[in-house]
Amino acid sequence: MLQGTPILVLKEGTERERGKSATQNNIAAARAVADAVRTTLGPRGMDKMLVDSMGDITITNDGVTILKEVDVEHPAAKMIVEVAKTQDQQCGDGTTTAVVLAGELLKRSESLLEQDVHPTVITRGFQLAVQEAQRLLETEIGTHVKAEDEAVLVDCARTAMGSKGVYGSREELAKIAVKAVQKIAEVRGDKTVCDVDQIKVEKRHGGTIGDTQLIEGIIIDKERGHPRMPSEVKDAKIALLNSALEIKKTEIESKINIKNPTQIQNFLDEEDKTFRRMVEAIKASGATVVVCQKGIDDVVLHYLAKEGIYAVKQVKESDMQKLARATGGKIVTGIKELTSADLGQAAKVDERKVGEDDMTFVTGCSNPRSVSILIRGGTEHVTQEVERSLHDALKVVASVLEDGVVCPGGGATEMDLAVKLRKWAGTVGGREQLAVESFAQSLESVPWALAENGGYDSINVLIELRSAHDGAQANKNYGVNLADGKAADMWKLRVIEPLRVKRQALSSAAEVANMVLRIDDVIAAKKSTPTPPPGGGGHEH
Ligand code: ADP
Ligand code: MG
Repeated sequence: MLQGTPILVLKEGTERERGKSATQNNIAAARAVADAVRTTLGPRGMDKMLVDSMGDITITNDGVTILKEVDVEHPAAKMIVEVAKTQDQQCGDGTTTAVVLAGELLKRSESLLEQDVHPTVITRGFQLAVQEAQRLLETEIGTHVKAEDEAVLVDCARTAMGSKGVYGSREELAKIAVKAVQKIAEVRGDKTVCDVDQIKVEKRHGGTIGDTQLIEGIIIDKERGHPRMPSEVKDAKIALLNSALEIKKTEIESKINIKNPTQIQNFLDEEDKTFRRMVEAIKASGATVVVCQKGIDDVVLHYLAKEGIYAVKQVKESDMQKLARATGGKIVTGIKELTSADLGQAAKVDERKVGEDDMTFVTGCSNPRSVSILIRGGTEHVTQEVERSLHDALKVVASVLEDGVVCPGGGATEMDLAVKLRKWAGTVGGREQLAVESFAQSLESVPWALAENGGYDSINVLIELRSAHDGAQANKNYGVNLADGKAADMWKLRVIEPLRVKRQALSSAAEVANMVLRIDDVIAAKKSTPTPPPGGGGHEH
């Protein structure tokens, strides 16, 4: 009888493992992954340099990026990688924390298993601990903030970016992130919804991170199609086309059957007429700007330029959609169908030089909820890391606006939960109590790693923190001050995080730990037999 214990099925080539040795191997593999990212936790965490098979490098401190890039083979280790991905999708931040917690839970489980505590008892204890932790987060640790409390939003964004390689500019970047999310926030009934995918992030290396800017509008990574086109159009009426302004060459070849020079001339005239008709249709609609998802023939560009129309071609589909939403325009397939009602509106469309390239800026859009962030930075690696940290910051600000609850960072929240859970463990009783205690202890791995990565003596820091969170003078906001390795009030240091990040990290870490613990059998899947070639077997000659 398997009694509901999941079996992990391995690909062919791996032997079957059962019982304790299966559990131990799984734990070891999962922990190895957690250990790999632990040194990146926090603002003092180290970076990892990832080199792919093509020799391209990525330098990052971002847990999920590291785990996504690393080739993980072991199935249990893969489960840990999934935790990071889930955390990233749900919160955009806290990926390293979730993985470190999962690793620590498994490490503590190992000693429980050695004491002959059954895996089922451990998982039940962990589940109880998570429930209690969630309750404590909601009722005792979280602090409600209002949408108007901009300083807190900036603090959260700054904390989220604290660990990435953008340290020097994070104040400005944090403000940009907050402004951008505030722009796209929508109040629906009594709820606030922030879809950060609406924020268009473009990056161009050159300049410095400090040149990163928020643009109220959409940036298109394309220059205008012809140098004689105006470089700026005010009060723009924008036609959004998703078909090419060209004549398909194959169509022409199948039609022409030239016998003498006049026919060639007629043919060329005909082609020219078609192009002119395209431009006339655009002009008739009243459009002063054309944004085309496909190609535009040079002749058409020339005529458009003559008409003083600004045109860009080969624009990404996702940009077309963003433009439609921002300008209120409709994406039109056939040029013949284009009417003035389809045109989008923007106060200005202009071409600006960004680094080495020219880009098209569509600003003052009719929909005020359209914003872009233009990331700048010395090299491509810098802009990439800025993009990653902005991604975290945007999601973090969005969660705070949506949920309205924050908690102290720097390990303060984990420490407070640890102290409170340890006390609560006594009420659980039985062997589950041991698991709850282990859970509490695992939470301390967060301040521990923060201190360790900061170059401080983790034991001393933990002792100081434990006493700060206990007794009559207890203060739930005490975490690690990385400037001096002492316990300090994180609200005063303005190290603040959304509650959602902590809640999700705890639950997904516990979930994966439980999943790994419940596996007692790893079986190699049967080799799939290739289908025999038609015509029956027979020998190869
Ligand atoms: P994650 O992927 O889990 O977000 P990070 O490397 O971003 O990992 O580190 C997050 C941790 O660093 C959180 O516990 C956060 O509270 C902490 N942290 C961020 N900034 C500071 C700071 N200035 N002082 C102390 N801790 C900080
Ligand atoms: Mg982070």
